[in-house]
Amino acid sequence: VHRYNSDGQEIDDEGNTIKKKVDLWRLFTMARDEWWILGLGCLAMLAASASNMMAPLFFSFVVDAALTSIEKVNHTVLVLLLIYIGGAIAAFFRSWLFTLAGMRFVARLREELFAAIIKNEIAFFDTTRTGELTNRLASDTGVVQNSVTVNISMLFRYLIQIIGSLSIMFVLSAKLTGVLLSCVPIVSIGAVVYGKYVQGIRKAFQDELAAASTVAEESISSIRTVRMFSGEEKSKRDYNKSVDKSYGWGKKLALAGGGFNGIVGVVAFGAIVLVLWYGAKLVIMEKEHPGTGLTIGSLTGFMMYTLNVAMAFAFISSLFGDFMQALGASERIFELLDRKAEVNVSGGKVLDGLNGGIVFKNVSFTYPSRPDSEVLKEVSFSVEPGKVVALVGPSGGGKSTIVSLIERFYDPNSGTIMLGGQDLSTLDPRWFRQQISMVSQEPTLFATTIKENIAYGREASDEEVEDAARQANAHQFISEFEEGYETMVGERGVRLSGGQKQRVAIARSLIMNPAILLLDEATSALDAESEHLVQEAIDRAMKGRTVLVIAHRLSTVRNASEVVVIDKGKIVERGTHDELLQKGGVYKKLVLRQLSAGRAMPSIN
Ligand code: ADP
Repeated sequence: VHRYNSDGQEIDDEGNTIKKKVDLWRLFTMARDEWWILGLGCLAMLAASASNMMAPLFFSFVVDAALTSIEKVNHTVLVLLLIYIGGAIAAFFRSWLFTLAGMRFVARLREELFAAIIKNEIAFFDTTRTGELTNRLASDTGVVQNSVTVNISMLFRYLIQIIGSLSIMFVLSAKLTGVLLSCVPIVSIGAVVYGKYVQGIRKAFQDELAAASTVAEESISSIRTVRMFSGEEKSKRDYNKSVDKSYGWGKKLALAGGGFNGIVGVVAFGAIVLVLWYGAKLVIMEKEHPGTGLTIGSLTGFMMYTLNVAMAFAFISSLFGDFMQALGASERIFELLDRKAEVNVSGGKVLDGLNGGIVFKNVSFTYPSRPDSEVLKEVSFSVEPGKVVALVGPSGGGKSTIVSLIERFYDPNSGTIMLGGQDLSTLDPRWFRQQISMVSQEPTLFATTIKENIAYGREASDEEVEDAARQANAHQFISEFEEGYETMVGERGVRLSGGQKQRVAIARSLIMNPAILLLDEATSALDAESEHLVQEAIDRAMKGRTVLVIAHRLSTVRNASEVVVIDKGKIVERGTHDELLQKGGVYKKLVLRQLSAGRAMPSIN
């Protein structure tokens, strides 16, 4: 979360302004692959600028030629025409090449940024909102797109235009040039002050915009919940509040921009009028004492150069704002690009095969997003290969957390988790995640076809997909769809029923042929028929595999080789179902409550 003072400067919790170093050079080196296009563009730009520079000179020649002969006029006009045509062709190349470079650059930047985002550890996503990330991908990258290509080249173009024009003007009339230059410092100082002021506001504006996207994202993606609670008004209010905030900065931006333009306009036109007045005086002098002043043609040319310079200044000052905005956006982009994931998605040991189960040794864990509550305390247990271990206990006890740690979504704060006899943190996650499949209570599917969902974890043939679906009791209902395996499931699988979604998710796990299965048994959400089909699929999936199951069903705990009872992050009891019943402790109470309540295993909330 970024906070700002009324000047738009970012501040920390104590209200001190935060100074951040941003590097335009770094942005420019990131566009390294586009440098050759930019180089060609620069050549075109030089040609276009040369034409721009020469034109007024020949313009003045034409005016002065009008006082001599028609032949001379024709000749000079022809040259002028050629200069303009050459300039137009060069301008085409300049514009095309620079825009092309910008497009290429932003496409690559987006790809790199996405790669940098997706590789972060799960804890990062626990604390960062989706809308903010997607906004950076879409909007911030767009803002920097032009800064190191089109804008930098424009900057050079106008600088060349200014230097070139001023040199010619100096030759035409040193005195008049001096008059013009005396106005420059005022404009420059103004531009610098303005730029500093606007940079902060622009960044605040962008950040608020990102916040607004986040609010919209959340409401739209949870539209069912919004509808259920008639939350449309609240969503609208929240969104409006965010948008209004960004509008607040936008208003400041508009006023600052307008004010700056106004002031620059007054100074620039004032300068032009001043030059014109002084130039006219020089023309009169020339008439009275030839050789001491300016010809009419030269004054015309001079005035055109003056306009050239003024225009170039105006463009540069507007570029200035763009640069400032790009710097703000690039700051946020670099922040993401530079972030090192705490758990890498790949890299580490790859074993020949997975022989051995799961071992937890004194594992303690605290969620990074909630540092003051320890969720697991010195947890030790193991799942022997081919065995089924059931985790039971009141909800919030830490069962799902244990499963997340096995997937290495997080690293434990102390203790070790072993997989196949090796410390999990030394194994290549990409490898071990292929050995482990997880079937959760509420699986999420991707907005694509059933086939692609089932084959998400690896390349698979149609036969393999169908085979997995059969094992998961999903083939039947899939075949009944008109489009079969090509049926689109909708966002997160909304077009399937709960039970169908689960069976597709089971097929998705089975196609990986995992050695280890992590199961989170559904509590109740399914109807009896569906539940039966899902349960049958799960039972089949468990055969011959090492299984850790968060159990809610009596039949599951009965068949487990060991039941581990977790409460408040600690293992409070362990043993077989029968042993634990005999012991008459927590477990027995849980089971009794279950028996009196119905079929599902207890979840005490
Ligand atoms: P169970 O699966 O036994 O119901 P969990 O492992 O889901 O329990 O939760 C254990 C504790 O960890 C709970 O207090 C829960 O609020 C907390 N918790 C779960 N997930 C997160 C998370 N991503 N960030 C912070 N705290 C979490």
